[in-house]
Amino acid sequence: MGIIVQKFGGTSVADVEKIKNVAKAVIREKNNGNQVIVVVSAMGHTTDYLVKMANEISDNPNPREMDMLLTTGEQVSIALLTMAIQAQGHAAVSMNAMQVGIITECNHTKARIVDIKTEKLYSHLNKGEIIVVAGFQGVTPDGEITTLGRGGSDTSAVAIAGALNADRCDIYTDVEGVYTTDPRIVPNATKLSEISYEEMLELAHVGANVLHPRSVETAKQYNVPLRVRSTFKLDDLGTYITGVDNMEIYKPVAGVAADLSQIRVVICDVPDEPGSAAKIFDALSKSDVSVDMIIQSYGRNDGTNDVAFTVSKSDYEKTMEIVKNVIKEIHAASVLVDEDIAKVSIVGAGMVDRPGIAASMFKALAEEGINIKMISTSEIKISCLVEKNDAHKAIQALHSAFNLDAKEVAVVMGDLPDV
Ligand code: ASP
Ligand code: MG
Repeated sequence: MGIIVQKFGGTSVADVEKIKNVAKAVIREKNNGNQVIVVVSAMGHTTDYLVKMANEISDNPNPREMDMLLTTGEQVSIALLTMAIQAQGHAAVSMNAMQVGIITECNHTKARIVDIKTEKLYSHLNKGEIIVVAGFQGVTPDGEITTLGRGGSDTSAVAIAGALNADRCDIYTDVEGVYTTDPRIVPNATKLSEISYEEMLELAHVGANVLHPRSVETAKQYNVPLRVRSTFKLDDLGTYITGVDNMEIYKPVAGVAADLSQIRVVICDVPDEPGSAAKIFDALSKSDVSVDMIIQSYGRNDGTNDVAFTVSKSDYEKTMEIVKNVIKEIHAASVLVDEDIAKVSIVGAGMVDRPGIAASMFKALAEEGINIKMISTSEIKISCLVEKNDAHKAIQALHSAFNLDAKEVAVVMGDLPDV
């Protein structure tokens, strides 16, 4: 007998019929002889709807009240799912974050979990009950209600699995697993049977919206074996996410992703002297703007450089305000913004110590006539910034170049997020 944590997202509990189906999936795991804890999100688009109402009342809703509002969504689904399990003849109990003791710091709307109390969880499990826990929410040591950031229920589930040393955490969703790329762009994307935490983290950050990145970090930290699988195909094992040491790596590239959520900012003619870059990026970080790719051009004879970087579109206005002040301070000439960009990335633990991967990537893009504007690399990722209009073509070309194409076309269930 093991402890299994199951997490069901909003689309899996979107209506009463679906909730009854989820109850069946939960009971099935229990009947396999396991102790089961279920973590659920709010029904369907409930959270979006709550956010919309708040924004209709205020341009800048109070974060504490926002958390008070948004946590209601999950409270509805835990009660209904628990009733559904009970109606099918099994003992179950719902718990919110306060009842469990999911302790977070007091950073409203994006709190991090600092501790999970296990006492009450064990006591219910030992009575043979299925526990249904509200995802996405936490409580501070002072009893303030918090949320973990949009999509945070994945993180709740993984953190609970880590705290209980669970045998597995299954993230049930409306796709069948993690794919080599977005199957809507490349119809013969392949479902990966396994992928490492590290690769998944890179893919999660570059726009493969399957899992909340923080949930993968937490899984890696506590070594929680994760599975991403479909609520609507219970016999399909989905994708297994585990430590890289447990895997046979035979392909250099595991997946390809596009991120269309960034803009490029270029500061022209920055004086080539110590402290210029520090001033630019210090000002951005003080305002909580996170910068992704950075390139400084080779110093020119006139003693200036250009500094280019990318930030999230949502930070556009904040960034421009800061940069306009900084260029006066450092005596740079001007600033340019490029909104029509996409970051395409290849990710794979197998590229470590394998020469030629970058060259193959650039060649595949060149053969399609795609111009590269910026390049950045990490140990297991290479990203190129390209024209937004070239993004789909780039993804397709890279998918084929690294032999990821499947013979059969992937069947996509439900809505994938927009890319
Ligand atoms: N209901 C929350 C959201 O929509 C949390 C989640 O779905 O994971 O962001
Ligand atoms: Mg969700």
